[in-house]
Amino acid sequence: MDMTCQIEELVNRLRVDFPDLIFRRGLDQDDTKWIPDEDTIVYTKTTSTSRNNDLINALVLLHELAHASLGHSNFDIDAELLRMETEAWQLVELRFAPKYGVNFILDVVDMHIKSYRDWLSDRSMCPRCGMIGWQTAASTYSCPSCSRSWSVGSNKFKNTYRSMK
Ligand SMILES: [Zn+2]
Ligand SMILES: [Zn+2]
Repeated sequence: MDMTCQIEELVNRLRVDFPDLIFRRGLDQDDTKWIPDEDTIVYTKTTSTSRNNDLINALVLLHELAHASLGHSNFDIDAELLRMETEAWQLVELRFAPKYGVNFILDVVDMHIKSYRDWLSDRSMCPRCGMIGWQTAASTYSCPSCSRSWSVGSNKFKNTYRSMK
């Protein structure tokens, strides 16, 4: 497939198709991300000429667009985040990737989903006995086996909606 997914070209098309969203080019270190409060998608400047890098950036940009289109914003339950991630990738696969001519790379998606799974299991594992706990509040878990409770770091959207580096 022809590489029409140079980031700026893609963004220009998205600006036309999604006039209600703001697309802002991030600084070098910024991740591609969706900021629901500002209706803004920050996208990553492609510094490398690597075709693959460009493609990954394009794919992640479409992923954040999917979050925006699906109205994803804050969440209280961590497992909800994993569901939203999967949902967003499905939309990319079925609609945005074919529409904008960006190859859907399953490896990238798998790695992305895996990073959320790892994050979730880190948070939910009982520090005393290793069982998977129940989430009882936005930042609290409790173990069904040994009854231990523990706190996890606050769950800010911008931290948890991290994109691939
Ligand atoms: Zn996501
Ligand atoms: Zn336990």
